[in-house]
Amino acid sequence: AEKFKNKKTAAGFDLFLKDAQQGQVVTRFPPEPSGYLHVGHAKAAILNQYFARQYNGKLIIRFDDTNPSKEKEEFEQSIIEDLALLGIKGDVTTHTSDHFDTLYKYAIQMIQLGKAYADDTLQEQMRAERMDGIPSKRRDASIEENMTRFAEMSTGSADGRKWCLRAKLSFDDPNKAMRDPVIYRCNPDVSHHRTGTTWKVYPTYDFACPIVDSIEGVTHALRTNEYRDRNPQYQWMLDALSLRKVDIWDFGRLNFVYTLLSKRKLQWFVDNGIVGGWDDPRFPTVRGIRRRGMTIETIQEFILAQGPSQQIINMEWDNIWTINKRHIDPVVPRYVALDKEGVVKVSVKGAPKRHSKEMPRHKKNADLGNKVTVFDEVVYVEQTDARSFAQGEEVTFMDWGNVIIDSKQTDAAGNVLSIEATANLDGDFKKTKKKVTWLAPSASDASLVDVNLLDFDYLITKKKLEEEDNFADFVTPTSEFHSVALADHNVAALQQGAAVQFERKGYYILDKLAGKDGRADFIKIPDGKAATSA
Ligand code: ATP
Ligand code: MG
Ligand code: MG
Repeated sequence: AEKFKNKKTAAGFDLFLKDAQQGQVVTRFPPEPSGYLHVGHAKAAILNQYFARQYNGKLIIRFDDTNPSKEKEEFEQSIIEDLALLGIKGDVTTHTSDHFDTLYKYAIQMIQLGKAYADDTLQEQMRAERMDGIPSKRRDASIEENMTRFAEMSTGSADGRKWCLRAKLSFDDPNKAMRDPVIYRCNPDVSHHRTGTTWKVYPTYDFACPIVDSIEGVTHALRTNEYRDRNPQYQWMLDALSLRKVDIWDFGRLNFVYTLLSKRKLQWFVDNGIVGGWDDPRFPTVRGIRRRGMTIETIQEFILAQGPSQQIINMEWDNIWTINKRHIDPVVPRYVALDKEGVVKVSVKGAPKRHSKEMPRHKKNADLGNKVTVFDEVVYVEQTDARSFAQGEEVTFMDWGNVIIDSKQTDAAGNVLSIEATANLDGDFKKTKKKVTWLAPSASDASLVDVNLLDFDYLITKKKLEEEDNFADFVTPTSEFHSVALADHNVAALQQGAAVQFERKGYYILDKLAGKDGRADFIKIPDGKAATSA
């Protein structure tokens, strides 16, 4: 991120904070441990870190763990690991639950100030009253009554759990976020992953966030502007409790087409077995996109290029994969893989006897070293290439030379069974229309390897889901595609996680050394060209 210092972003936004002083800035990234980090969270995390570093300030990683019904230790651990992967390093890590005692005291103070009341209005009715600007029948209860009811809530008793605590803010403010928001809820039946069963009541985000920001010393609270209606409510809480003010700096939420960025919805795909897990390559999680071959540098560059823009951006995946291609193309080695089905043997008359030669792994990057390429008098080509060859045509076998097609044997269905050709290895490759990949067959000096090539489509069929859409109605029926290829013997030495280019096929990442049927699984890395999916 350092190299972006004092720069306008690619989109022309100034990357600076208002009223910020060197050494004084404190930002925070507050994930709720209710799922794995996705690319939207990455935006928030990267921006928070960017500003903390730019102003020589401090970044707080705060687990916003106020709802034990959704939160788990597993998620917290994964968030810690994924932030590390993203190069995000907080100066301190805190939990909202570290402040439960303090928050509880502030809730009591709110009641005693006459600024909060207990309410047992049923949820549906509360919603309707809020919509219509009608005060709750409990709104004018006395401080004593409210104290008693909150105490009852705190025991988690049958009676207590009927109540919640609401800030007494307004019942008819034009901004509905100001209409007496709930600040404490009873949730006595679940165990909190850090505080166990100590608490029967929990603060809401609306209450906890401003208070914890203030007491942890946050100077600039970055949040997505979908919360903008709640900004005055945030400030009201701080005013009500005479706490230090915090600047809210809001930025546009990051969205992607054909993509759900909500932990709750992603959890649904996991629970219904539609994906293999939170790290599924079709998922917009940090783990998913990394598994599909996106680099950390790409994610950082992409986010900082947008900066804290106010627009809610609905990104095409092609944009970010194009950046990724730019990063990986110069540094990933190149090999050959042929579609295995219908692979055709070509006998090349006049070719030198089987031998091997060291060739660069990447023609334009000598740092990647050499691979061993095997040449032979008989080689394989793909069926589609074989079909396209005309008798007498001169074609280029890449990294070898030209051959002239003498004859083809085909079956009744038109499949090419074998080809005879004559070597013209020094022929001019500029004069040929076709440059094809080929491989020498296995022999004792080098064996080809069977690999799985996996490619994926979007998980949902609709470009932009609307609020009223039920996302489950738009699940893509088949979003995983699978084929078997015959790969270069050099591929056998690759390590898990290695990214490569299979010439003429594209970029792939070695996902599993032993996937389906024991073959290595390679996942296609999208390159941003519209023809590819996701
Ligand atoms: P989700 O709906 O996926 O659970 P959330 O906003 O409830 O998202 P949090 O864990 O509370 O998830 O979010 C942590 C931080 O990440 C918040 O500051 C939030 O504003 C930010 N964030 C979440 N989603 C996005 C997004 N799509 N674009 C930018 N920032 C986001
Ligand atoms: Mg949240
Ligand atoms: Mg959300």
